[in-house]
Amino acid sequence: MYTISKLAEILSSESKFVDGQSVITHLVVDSRSIVFPENSLFFALSSHRDGHDFIADAYRKGIRNFVITDKKYLDFASDCNFVLVDDALLALQNIATAHRNAFKLKTIGITGSNGKTIVKEWLFQLLAQDYQIVRSPKSYNSQIGVALSVWQIDEKHNLGIFEAGISAQNEMHPLAKMIKPEIGILTNIGEAHAEGFSSKKQKLIEKLKLFANASLFIYSPDYVEAVIPAQIPGRAKFTWSCTQPADLRINTIEVGAVKSILKATFRGDSIHCTLPFIDKASIENGIICWATLLAMGYLPEQASFRLSKLSPVSMRLSLKHGINQCSIIDDSYSADISSLSIALDFLNQQNQHPKKTVILSELFETGKDDRLLYAEIAELLEQKKVNRIIGIGSHLAVSANMFNIEAEFFDDTAAFIKAFPHIKFDHETILVKGARRFDFSKISKLLTQKVHDTVLEIDLNALVGNLQFYRSQLKPGVKIMAMVKAFSYGSGSFEIANLLQFHKVDYLAVAYADEGIALRKAGINLPIMVMSPEESAFEAIIKYKLEPELYSPDILKGFLNALPNDCVDFPIHLKIDTGMHRLGFDGREIEELIQIISQNKQAQVKSIFSHLVASSEVAHDDFTQGQIEKFESIATSIIDVLGYRPLLHIANTGAISRWPASQLDMVRLGIGLYGFDAALKNNVGLQTSMVLKTTVTQVKTISPGDSVGYSRRGIMPGGGTIATVKIGYADGYNRTFGNGVGKMLINGHLVPTIGSICMDMTMLDVTGIEVKAGDEAIVFNHQHTIADLAAQINTIPYEILTSISQRVKRVYFYE
Ligand SMILES: *Cc1c(COP(=O)(O)O)cnc(C)c1O
Repeated sequence: MYTISKLAEILSSESKFVDGQSVITHLVVDSRSIVFPENSLFFALSSHRDGHDFIADAYRKGIRNFVITDKKYLDFASDCNFVLVDDALLALQNIATAHRNAFKLKTIGITGSNGKTIVKEWLFQLLAQDYQIVRSPKSYNSQIGVALSVWQIDEKHNLGIFEAGISAQNEMHPLAKMIKPEIGILTNIGEAHAEGFSSKKQKLIEKLKLFANASLFIYSPDYVEAVIPAQIPGRAKFTWSCTQPADLRINTIEVGAVKSILKATFRGDSIHCTLPFIDKASIENGIICWATLLAMGYLPEQASFRLSKLSPVSMRLSLKHGINQCSIIDDSYSADISSLSIALDFLNQQNQHPKKTVILSELFETGKDDRLLYAEIAELLEQKKVNRIIGIGSHLAVSANMFNIEAEFFDDTAAFIKAFPHIKFDHETILVKGARRFDFSKISKLLTQKVHDTVLEIDLNALVGNLQFYRSQLKPGVKIMAMVKAFSYGSGSFEIANLLQFHKVDYLAVAYADEGIALRKAGINLPIMVMSPEESAFEAIIKYKLEPELYSPDILKGFLNALPNDCVDFPIHLKIDTGMHRLGFDGREIEELIQIISQNKQAQVKSIFSHLVASSEVAHDDFTQGQIEKFESIATSIIDVLGYRPLLHIANTGAISRWPASQLDMVRLGIGLYGFDAALKNNVGLQTSMVLKTTVTQVKTISPGDSVGYSRRGIMPGGGTIATVKIGYADGYNRTFGNGVGKMLINGHLVPTIGSICMDMTMLDVTGIEVKAGDEAIVFNHQHTIADLAAQINTIPYEILTSISQRVKRVYFYE
């Protein structure tokens, strides 16, 4: 157990205490996810934002222990303990290292470009019966994530499995120090994340530093060809390969319909195993686990038996629409306190319904006493403002009296399902979280609406990544208005707005008042600008505190008239036309604008803005420059009479990196959030946030000369095979994609459409490819991109994104 003064001693740093005996059990780096404030130590880490900015929030939430780097915060409050350090991240890591060194457990360190989390989770499944295991939550493998992972170790653990991820030179050393792996595992070394390195070899050498002091290193020689043998770490080594001699030499892989049979040579003997997976990545990760078990001394029969029982790992939470207007967060991936806490944070972030229910199975925290465990969970649920728990499992039922919120308990999943018709679920967010053996997928199926087999998957982490990318491009102090018009470019409404609100953008903008009202009703309290405020919506705009964009003398006068007489400083925005010639006051109207606005007290001009017509196009750079100058001059003349300074903004996505001078006070970030920026070559720096998939309904053999589809447009002179998929123009798959213009990915093959696109269906020419009904067809993803589709039908990504109709179900993923 640590007191704050003990931790300050570890850091040997200057400190200021009111109570040096304050006990610290939790390390916190994000003021939004605080659970046990009295026993938490907050680190003011600085990355995109200065961590000190969040001290006030953490203080409000009850935290009284802080690690800071800025001396002036020593006087922030008199009832707090402060530890002053030079580098808050280093302090966090030093505490983690000291904590790690206090224990003598065996540790496995895992790194590589792909597969780290899967291998970690599978090793957990494979070894849990023999060890008390502590492991990284989810994919906590960063400079911060590893520190928090290692901090979980306590005296009952005898095995730690930790993953380490790096993206640049010199990042591995601190991770190696914290993990101190005895056994090292190198997973697949792909091309991913090569940007931070000068070469693949340099990336590999950096990764291998994790294992500098390992006594056993498990790897494939295929992945370390770039380095000389002397650079391969590990006192003992265990190799595996499908192509060259190795300790575990895989000879054949037979891929069946649902499982794969692997045959190998191990120390001169023929051995085999069955993996319940058929995709390439899972098979490789399975081989790595196989090698690890053998290297750790398990008998081949034992290893094979356990591998045949592996179950899939889904690292993502998914958010879906449910019955009775509920939102369902599905997380049956692991049932332990840290993943529960992460899931509850997500529940709070998606705050569209005031009522929150958690359906929870018994947890299996290795070695923890039931009473302590469920007391901690009860407190966690209360802290996270959960209103109701439905507990499943006899151990949970016994602890029923620990919970002071609405609660109901069932002995097992079957009992819950039996009672389901009588349990009320209505307008609430429901987190479904259970250990695998409780088979909660049955419960989430009951709760979710039947999903039409065409879905748009939205990766919320990618969206946040893109937001952070643009934050890093902004000059200090520049604000962000996130454009969420047209259902956030097709990706969703409150789901995306909640995420952006949680990640603290400054403003949102929608096209119409209705969109803004829907967001307000879903609990969004950020300021929202409405770009086309119709006169008929003025009343609603005022009622819901939306902020209109006013673009002509008439609409300005109209809106001011609509404001109640006693209204002061109602926020409005003025749009200036500097060349787009769509909406906006033009040069001749500025005088009238000034006259109207200077006599008015009811409204306050929050911002003055304009829109660039070609910010990403070199050919129009002079025009863009002209627009920026014109805007600044008009804005200045308005500010002169206003007597105060509203925010000025003109930059859209394409201008943010290309025209830093146009960032002014705020930028309007639109398509970049969703992964596209015409100003960035190949969108480098951005992540794909959406995948559109559909399903094969039927596969047919076509005789030579037969035709496919309406008007006999798809002729197959030589015959062949077609697959019909469940997406048509009513889903937003444009008719011009027909007759071979559009392509989809099926089982790794890009196949063309054949015949005309129908309303609800499309036929694909899959001649020569193995396809069966039920297979997935990808309309777009990170490989076959929205940009590719746009090019096929001569349009722009904006149109592809926003055309996906609302009938296509959106499913949100979050790690
Ligand atoms: C849509 C829109 C934007 C965002 O443009 P992107 O190119 O998607 O970043 C910015 N400003 C206005 C006025 C818009 O209508």
